[in-house]
Amino acid sequence: MDKEAPSAQHAQLLIDGRWVEGCEDFPVFDKFNGSLVGRCERASKEQVDAAVAAASRSFESNKLAPYDRYRILMKAAELIEARRDEFARTIVAEAGFPYVDAENEVTRAAQTFIISAEEGKRLVGEMVPIEAAPGHAHRMAFTIRVPRGVVCGITSFNSPLNMVAHKVAPALASGNTMVVKPPQVAPLSGALLAQVLLDAGLPPGHLNLVQGPGSEVGGWLVENKDIAFYSFTGSTPVGKSIRDAVGLRPVALELGSIAATLVCADADLDRAATRSVQSAFRRAGQACTSVQRLFVDRAVIDAFVPRFVAAARALKVGDPHDRQNVIGPLISERDAARALAWVDEAIAQGARLLHGGTREGALMQPTILTDVRPEMRVICDEIFGPVVSVIPVDGLDDAVRQINATPFGLAVGVFTRDVMTALNAARRLHVGVVHINEPSSSRVDLMPFSGVKDSGVGTEGPRYAMREMTEERLITASLS
Ligand code: NAD
Repeated sequence: MDKEAPSAQHAQLLIDGRWVEGCEDFPVFDKFNGSLVGRCERASKEQVDAAVAAASRSFESNKLAPYDRYRILMKAAELIEARRDEFARTIVAEAGFPYVDAENEVTRAAQTFIISAEEGKRLVGEMVPIEAAPGHAHRMAFTIRVPRGVVCGITSFNSPLNMVAHKVAPALASGNTMVVKPPQVAPLSGALLAQVLLDAGLPPGHLNLVQGPGSEVGGWLVENKDIAFYSFTGSTPVGKSIRDAVGLRPVALELGSIAATLVCADADLDRAATRSVQSAFRRAGQACTSVQRLFVDRAVIDAFVPRFVAAARALKVGDPHDRQNVIGPLISERDAARALAWVDEAIAQGARLLHGGTREGALMQPTILTDVRPEMRVICDEIFGPVVSVIPVDGLDDAVRQINATPFGLAVGVFTRDVMTALNAARRLHVGVVHINEPSSSRVDLMPFSGVKDSGVGTEGPRYAMREMTEERLITASLS
């Protein structure tokens, strides 16, 4: 049945330009107080297939000129800003983000649209000097970038708006059409974003939105052979299962990590402490690049730890609806209980608690451990909670060896005043991103952003995602 555009309280499915109900709906709860903040429609398999079919038809029959794409995406950025309060309130409730992080999410989403709109005008191929080959002096060649067709975006809960923007904006800017599936636990801001795109003038069918559990709705998307490209952000096991299922179709997988930051003996310790505290505990540690392992040179560890603990103590933890608080709940009480169980297990195995180690419902105090050992779960599995372990290292070689000793390779921060140390570390760390004098979670949306090893394949960031979302076609011409 057709309905009006969704409010934050009732998110429907967007199929072929119309908001429709699904096969049933499910509740969306406030992650701090458990109150009902909305309901979301759940797509049936037929609706998932209809969404992909609508995107396919739009790709074939309703192409947008590049300048029209630019105009629509710039308008979308303007509308995101104009609806900032509605977006921010929705994110605070559905994801449990404090306002400071929810507002940042809105700013970043608008920027992601602006960057994509601009990069859409610069999507170039290259000249290929085949005339230099013996016997080919009469020929010329160049490449063009061609949209792949239907792009599918599947996103994680921990950046419920900007993550959807990072799929949708580059896909549309490079001439594809889309089906997107936001996370089931935080589906509302993604639906608001889809409405923004319609209001910005996107033709029906260019963006389709389906909602529901990953195992079903996500699985049906993965099975659908009319999808040309998958852009997935989420956990490593799900990412691997998608890669196994899609055959030769290309994917970009932005996956998990156990991110590290290194504080060298010559670092500015105050800067390292305050920035690393933000990185470890912001969004309750639920970022793929949150500092989970904080390596500190043994020469300065006694001077560093009190600064770090003091900075963590100063964080205001509590109800994210209260603008004073900067750390809110985890996405669920179950996740907080799991994170705390890993902390308790580490303490039972000999780790020492320097701060935190308690929770009330889904709200967990920023927690700092030391005296951890390599086999403890708090440092060898992704905790995705506000828990950091401080680990001593003996110089750069030891730090590089320990940082590299995980199956993951996403982002690392290195605090040092010495440019040789910084560049040496950057060359030897097996990760996608190294930030000097910033912690591991210093992503800016203009950057190329990618993981290596079990942290993923393919590169995000509008300019780079657009290369992934297009095919490079070679054209040769014989001039004689
Ligand atoms: P998740 O893997 O549980 O879910 C991610 C998305 O995949 C959701 O929309 C979910 O519904 C869907 N999904 C689940 N099972 C599926 C299946 N079988 N087929 C298709 N889709 C399926 O992850 P999450 O708990 O939402 O997010 C946390 C994870 O995301 C962490 O591991 C974190 O490190 C990672 N992450 C990575 C990045 C990055 O850029 N590398 C960024 C953010 C989060």
